[in-house]
Amino acid sequence: MIIDTHIHLDNERYKDDLDEVLNRARDAKIKRFIIPGADPATLERTLEIVDANNDVYFAVGVHPYDKASFDELDFEKYVGHKKCVAIGECGLDYFRLEGSDEEKLKEKEEQKRVFRAQIELAKKYKKPLIVHIRDASRDSKEILLELDAKEVGGVLHCYNADEELLSLAKEGFYFGIGGVLTFKNAKKLVNVLAKIPKDKLLIETDGPYLTPSPHRGERNEPLYTTFVAQKMSELLDTSLHDITELTTQNALRLFTLR
Ligand SMILES: [Zn+2]
Ligand SMILES: [Zn+2]
Repeated sequence: MIIDTHIHLDNERYKDDLDEVLNRARDAKIKRFIIPGADPATLERTLEIVDANNDVYFAVGVHPYDKASFDELDFEKYVGHKKCVAIGECGLDYFRLEGSDEEKLKEKEEQKRVFRAQIELAKKYKKPLIVHIRDASRDSKEILLELDAKEVGGVLHCYNADEELLSLAKEGFYFGIGGVLTFKNAKKLVNVLAKIPKDKLLIETDGPYLTPSPHRGERNEPLYTTFVAQKMSELLDTSLHDITELTTQNALRLFTLR
């Protein structure tokens, strides 16, 4: 069995065939799905999906790109739902910073404010964090340490292969591995994979994005976590059975799923 720990099923690209997408995955033994929060505008859609499917869980949070909606989001309304298993995805993303140096600095400060606030919420509600980090490893790590995020731990989703972040394993952080692992140019991730403690490995799609080989260019879906597990099994020289068992146990533990 595999647990897809990060799948944006609320994305409009699944709107027309969501049941087929889920059933294809279920038939291939992908047995739990976690929808991360990103844009609060789609949270109601998330709840619809979660309420209609026993095996789908969700997180509430605001992606750095959607930070403008953070202050209006009514966290309490969602965090009490019995299938809300985490806070996020939240974090820092400096990949698309635009404008003058001053504007960039302002943008970073605002991202940090919204990230810090969500770490505090995670601690308040005792839920693990789903953390998104892109081109911002140092600042993200600093904030996670400064705010004692280890109280709740979490996952560095779509782990960027930065060795600087590996020490967060000791702070209760897991490493979400997805389609990138199968890319021909993923040397960095391929090389760092064995350095991640085995009890901190998770599998995710991040669908509809980051589709693994050999389906690159198509919409990603949970079924394709099988390619990620397969690649992980080859690289770590561990049987596919042991990889799926290991990553499943890790996901059940982190998100307190049954
Ligand atoms: Zn993300
Ligand atoms: Zn995501």
